[in-house]
Amino acid sequence: MNAACTVLMYHATHRHDAELGGADAHYAVTLDTFEAHLDCLAQEGAVACAVERVPALGAAGQRTVGMTFDDGHATNLQAAQALAKRGWSGTFFVNPSTVGNPDFLSWDALRAMAAMGMSIQSHAQHHRYQNELTQAEQLDELSQSKAAIEAQLGTACTVFAPPGGRTTPDTVRLARQAGYGMVSTSRVGLWDLRRADPWDVPRFAVLAGTPMAQLRAWVRQSPLEVGKQVLRYRALRTVKQALGNGGYERLRAALLPPSKDN
Ligand SMILES: [Zn+2]
Repeated sequence: MNAACTVLMYHATHRHDAELGGADAHYAVTLDTFEAHLDCLAQEGAVACAVERVPALGAAGQRTVGMTFDDGHATNLQAAQALAKRGWSGTFFVNPSTVGNPDFLSWDALRAMAAMGMSIQSHAQHHRYQNELTQAEQLDELSQSKAAIEAQLGTACTVFAPPGGRTTPDTVRLARQAGYGMVSTSRVGLWDLRRADPWDVPRFAVLAGTPMAQLRAWVRQSPLEVGKQVLRYRALRTVKQALGNGGYERLRAALLPPSKDN
């Protein structure tokens, strides 16, 4: 049994810049880079799988890396094909309100991905931050997206990834009330499989500039590299809390090329 698991978070996975559309280039990884990451996992003796399948595979002695994708960008179909080619899977968190829009996956594409063994799950109905909503609105976001995904795909929607990683003290209770069984956030760290707490599944964001050596170190669960990333996340979270969503977005816009949050 593995003591911990690395869960990765991707966004767009494009072949060339023309495919990026409105996606955030800072968070986008080219398909070539993504394939190289899968090669890296194979070299490290790990298999990629949908995050909710990690505990069962881990208990069976398989070394796993949880594979997740936020926002439902159209280019994720290519990532799904790359995973399926290896007999692997991933969890794709989509917003039903944007499914079928230009640059986003369609329901047909999502059905094809589900048929390949991919897991299609909720990133809320709209890409609205939970900490800017009332409790009733948070519950609506959870319930509507779950109902839409299940009606369109005929598969169970039981995992929730909050937009922008923003949560409230009520997020888990409301997710449970809406019928979910797992919440995967943007908190950085390894997922402790001895507890396998389904309500706080942390992830490592893979960015355009993430070096291969760093990805490999996360997969190897290097205490130094994991620790550095956790400290960076905590510092950033402190800044976010101090500035609020609006202030943080303005600061980020001033420091980085035009973009949105994950
Ligand atoms: Zn997002």
